[in-house]
Amino acid sequence: CGLATDDPILYRARVAGDALALSEIATGRQLTYAALDARIARCAGLLSAMLGVGRDGARVAMLARNSIDSIVLAFACQRAGAIYVPLNWRLSAAELRPILADCAPALLVHDEEFSAAVESLAEVDPEMMVIWTGSDPGGLAARIEASLAVKPLPVDADQPCVLLYTSGTTGHPKGVVITRRNAFFAAINFSFVGEIGPGSVALCDLPFFHTIGLIAVARTTLMLGGTLVISDRFTPARTLAALADRQRAITHYFAVPQIALALRGDPAYSAAALSGLHALFVGGAPLTQALIESYLGDGVALVNGYGMSEAGTVLHVPIDRRAVRDNPGSVGLPAPLLDIRIVGEDGRDVGEGEIGELWLRGPAVTPGYWNKPEETAAAFADGWYRTGDLGRREVNGFYRIVDRLKDMYISGGENVYPAEVEAALAGHPDILDVAVLGIPDIKWGECGIAYIVLRPGAAVTGEAIAGHCAARLAAFKHPARILFVETIPRTASGKVQKHVLRQLHSDETLQRQA
Ligand code: ATP
Ligand code: MG
Repeated sequence: CGLATDDPILYRARVAGDALALSEIATGRQLTYAALDARIARCAGLLSAMLGVGRDGARVAMLARNSIDSIVLAFACQRAGAIYVPLNWRLSAAELRPILADCAPALLVHDEEFSAAVESLAEVDPEMMVIWTGSDPGGLAARIEASLAVKPLPVDADQPCVLLYTSGTTGHPKGVVITRRNAFFAAINFSFVGEIGPGSVALCDLPFFHTIGLIAVARTTLMLGGTLVISDRFTPARTLAALADRQRAITHYFAVPQIALALRGDPAYSAAALSGLHALFVGGAPLTQALIESYLGDGVALVNGYGMSEAGTVLHVPIDRRAVRDNPGSVGLPAPLLDIRIVGEDGRDVGEGEIGELWLRGPAVTPGYWNKPEETAAAFADGWYRTGDLGRREVNGFYRIVDRLKDMYISGGENVYPAEVEAALAGHPDILDVAVLGIPDIKWGECGIAYIVLRPGAAVTGEAIAGHCAARLAAFKHPARILFVETIPRTASGKVQKHVLRQLHSDETLQRQA
């Protein structure tokens, strides 16, 4: 297919083998590109011996925290013609079971920490080989040491190398097939977004089971010859200490909104700790304006980015404090290798400033979902991937994400975007967390229900909240019902699971009717 190699480590090992590729915060372990390349070659040898993989696309699942060997296994799969399936360790065994049944891995590699879950998962398929990551005999690390290096297979850009399960925000997680072409170009796209190069030092404590951690941060940094600093867990104190450590000289850090919020609110936070950052990248879910401004006030360029498992990075605000300041609420400009359309209900492109669904095309976009021909057919139209997200393009070419198409509801004939209502409510000083959804309503067709978590000690009434809405939103957008709750269900990456709330609401309605 014309590519000499799409294997970033192989390439960097040849170009600058002595450069530092990986560094683990928990253990202090470090690997140069040459050493990483050698370890991947042996791990690929191990996989070939264990699975007999040529290029048959056997799945190798991993249930483990971020580590050097997660990276080694991921790239070894690509070299051996296998498909790396990083599993979300925040899920319960019951939630993981259908995922394992879906991808049917030949091998499952896990941290000792998750042994109990793995024991019950092993029942899914008695043929599945199971090993742990440790360096004791039989563990992944020991087996890699004992294996012979193999040469990479010739490149087939259409070959799947990663199967990435979506966050499960709108329903059950779907397995997104990532081909070698997809992974390569998603990393290229992100290198532009992050301005990443050989001098970059990127800290990653986002899990490698999501696209941001595995593709955007890890693959891009390694492909461009930077250093990837791996952390196996996020705590505000640990991240702030790493960012403040001038010897580490971290230049890039990536967060989801919940993490950026936790950092900013931590007693150990200081603007000085973040002063070495080229930018603080935040993406994956809507971001409040208050958070953007609080970081800007500290002189930190908080850069909002929008993307998804199916396409990697799609839109991003340029790393420029003025661009951040002048485009509040924006997710910025398209990544270089993407065609973007905004399509109305009639299937035609809408005009500037009008709301429609974002459709994407480009070499980073997945060919489809694993084992899900119907979902794949529904998600694609004429070679375009339909994101299911609503957005609009402004006069200056910057984009905004309005909401998920699934979450929009129609009240008295007017479209309501719950994200807009949530943003207005989140501005109330007593509100800690909020989620709004549309529910059936006899009079209006649909109306809004707001689930609200108050700050500890706050005692605001429903009427006061209604007053807050009245001052900010048109009447048809006001939630007709307000419910105070303890917590709002979120995914591992901090996204509100509205389908869980919707289920809760319909269960409650049924109970009332009974
Ligand atoms: P599922 O597809 O299983 O419902 P998911 O869509 O949340 O889960 P991901 O692929 O991890 O799974 O997330 C991509 C989605 O996250 C996007 O389609 C979009 O809805 C949302 N998103 C990502 N970045 C942003 C952002 N900067 N602002 C608002 N929403 C965002
Ligand atoms: Mg999705």
